[in-house]
Amino acid sequence: MKPWEAYIRKAVPYVPGEQPEGNRIIKLNTNENPYPPAPGVLKALREMNGEQFRKYPDPSANMLVEALADSYGVKEEQIFVGVGSDDVLGMAFLTFFNSERPILFPDVTYSFYPVWADLFRIPYETPKLDEAFRINPEDYKKANGGVVIANPNAPTGTALPLKAVEEIIKANQDVVVIIDEAYVDFGGQSAVPLIHRYENLLVVQTFSKSRSMAGMRIGFAMGCETLITALKHVKYSYNSYTMNQPSIILGTEAVKDREYFERRVADIVRTREAAKIRFRELGFSCTDSCTNFLFVTHEKAGAKELFEALKREQIYVRYFAVPRLDNYLRVTIGTDEEMETMYQFLTSYLKGL
Ligand SMILES: *Cc1c(COP(=O)(O)O)cnc(C)c1O
Repeated sequence: MKPWEAYIRKAVPYVPGEQPEGNRIIKLNTNENPYPPAPGVLKALREMNGEQFRKYPDPSANMLVEALADSYGVKEEQIFVGVGSDDVLGMAFLTFFNSERPILFPDVTYSFYPVWADLFRIPYETPKLDEAFRINPEDYKKANGGVVIANPNAPTGTALPLKAVEEIIKANQDVVVIIDEAYVDFGGQSAVPLIHRYENLLVVQTFSKSRSMAGMRIGFAMGCETLITALKHVKYSYNSYTMNQPSIILGTEAVKDREYFERRVADIVRTREAAKIRFRELGFSCTDSCTNFLFVTHEKAGAKELFEALKREQIYVRYFAVPRLDNYLRVTIGTDEEMETMYQFLTSYLKGL
């Protein structure tokens, strides 16, 4: 080992789901939206002529912030935007979790949280979800350096009622509480109205799931002006031009078309509710998902074998080889046609067991 190697910052990276190439693939492994973004997004994209690439982007992404403020009924000073909610969440960990005390998040949740905590040397504890994968608010009523809750949670899909979220925030007014609402548009209760009552609350959302724009990388946070200003100061101390100008323009178009957004979310919710029934008929049980994915386990077939059998058919779902989750599959809600192809295969595969 070279002497300088001792000073390298060691990091254990987050492992995202596979991005396989090919047009026969049914991709239900990373919770992308199966539908295209709003027509206005594609129109604005066609109208770009290169001028958007030549100049530096607006570092404050003002056009997008204005559209979001208008849509969510908050002030522009209460919004921070970033390159996907991963960027926003990472920046929030760096900005707000600077205490000697451990931050708290559930043992089963978005697996990026422990990665950021380790990278930024933030101590953390992970209270256990109960047998039904539910969060117990009581576990978050002890001394801590901050709290992070994904609501609805991933990869379980289950949601905490807003009352329970508020109970957690209320018990933790001396630290920052982050609520990650990546999936809230599919049926959760948003904590955004609470930002006006709790100055320590930061709500994070993304364009990657409900707005069909995972490839554009747009996320945002809402909170009181003090929190948002602190986030901006950290961001501008690192890299001012993170979000590119096409993303700012196209994200703005997506926010403006509320009708399309609501219609597509309703399409996915309808397919999800039908999927709960179809999976149960096939011998699976599933958590009561409020998201664009189901978390399922089969009474007889092992999850790993199912995962591999589906993959041989070019149907990609997500499997987590970790304790408590290793007999479950996380299946993104696709189009009705994609789901039908999967049910057909599962029916014949399970018959052959
Ligand atoms: C998908 C996801 C994110 C990150 O999404 P971005 O694409 O970075 O906006 C954050 N939190 C949870 C719980 C997610 O599932």
